[in-house]
Amino acid sequence: MTMDSHRDEPWRAWYGLARWKKARAAHLKAHPLCVKCEQQGITEIATLCDYRNPHRGDPALFWDPANYQGLCTTHHSATKQREEERGQVIGNQLSGRPRDPDHPWNITKADGVTRP
Ligand SMILES: [Zn+2]
Repeated sequence: MTMDSHRDEPWRAWYGLARWKKARAAHLKAHPLCVKCEQQGITEIATLCDYRNPHRGDPALFWDPANYQGLCTTHHSATKQREEERGQVIGNQLSGRPRDPDHPWNITKADGVTRP
């Protein structure tokens, strides 16, 4: 027996549950706009239900509607991609960099220099 697989995390199956589909649909119905677009004054329909605090398999966070946030496809994939690149979750940084991907600090300039 080995315990080396991270692909068999039980929470992955939660996304297939009717309970999740209902919770997700209810959240998007109540909060139909992308929260990140809204912060920038843009009105964009949220198509995905994301977590404010990553649940990491914690059922309390997974099933807490207060922990949900609607995102558009662009913001959802941008957030996930950045988390994967860093190997850490945005918002838990020690460097103090802004979370907003469109913040000037997070935009690589044409000359290839990224702001500190
Ligand atoms: Zn958005």
